Amino acid sequence: MVQWPHERIVSMSVSADHRKEYDLSGLRLTAQRRAILCVLRATTEHPEAGWIYEQVRKELPRISLATVYRNLAQLAETGLVTELDVGGARRWDGQVKPHDHIVCLRCGSVEDLDVLADRERLEERVSQSSGFIVYTHQLYLQGLCPRCQREEALDTSTEA
Ligand SMILES: [Zn+2]
Ligand SMILES: [Zn+2]
Repeated sequence: MVQWPHERIVSMSVSADHRKEYDLSGLRLTAQRRAILCVLRATTEHPEAGWIYEQVRKELPRISLATVYRNLAQLAETGLVTELDVGGARRWDGQVKPHDHIVCLRCGSVEDLDVLADRERLEERVSQSSGFIVYTHQLYLQGLCPRCQREEALDTSTEA
């Protein structure tokens, strides 16, 4: 069973940075939004809405999936979370600093891609070659994660 990381969540929710960021967004800090935000900030997993709903429900048992969807959309609109399109189901990211992702085609895991830290250089080059003014980009690569590579290797060795 996944334990609700309660102490961490509480300490996160009262952090000054978090609070200030929230005030700037102009959104009212409801219990639902705070819980959703805390779940997303406490994980690096890029979860789907259903998983977020399951976590938030431990704190707010009466919340509905529709409310979670609506609040996620509002949080994304104000830039407090990022909505990810990495193929398949929509995923959510608590890290709002622009960054790219790599997706496993076998298990669906999504990881942050720090090696492409040179995002600005990429945008500059695209701007030069296309004539566009580039404001931002969201890039994802697809592949097979290390764990799935090991599992596939095991599968083939047992077949042989
Ligand atoms: Zn995988
Ligand atoms: Zn991410």
